[in-house]
Amino acid sequence: MRVRIDYGLCNSCGLCYEVCPESAITQKYLEPRHLYEVRTARCTGCGECMDYCPAPGALVQFES
Ligand code: SF4
Ligand code: SF4
Repeated sequence: MRVRIDYGLCNSCGLCYEVCPESAITQKYLEPRHLYEVRTARCTGCGECMDYCPAPGALVQFES
């Protein structure tokens, strides 16, 4: 299991970036709702980021 960000729901607060134990989330600075990206190859699917994300549905789990 990995996670990805739904940019329609993400508010770019950066909490996922702060808490990810694998440093799998990177800063991108592309546009207001697309400031962070999940590096899928580093994501273990631990779910830590989902526990902190304040925007319901912004972090989406998917099978990889
Ligand atoms: S599921 Fe875990 S490893 Fe993957 S981005 Fe979230 S905190 Fe990082
Ligand atoms: S914690 Fe949630 S709302 Fe905040 S940047 Fe990450 S995905 Fe977006």
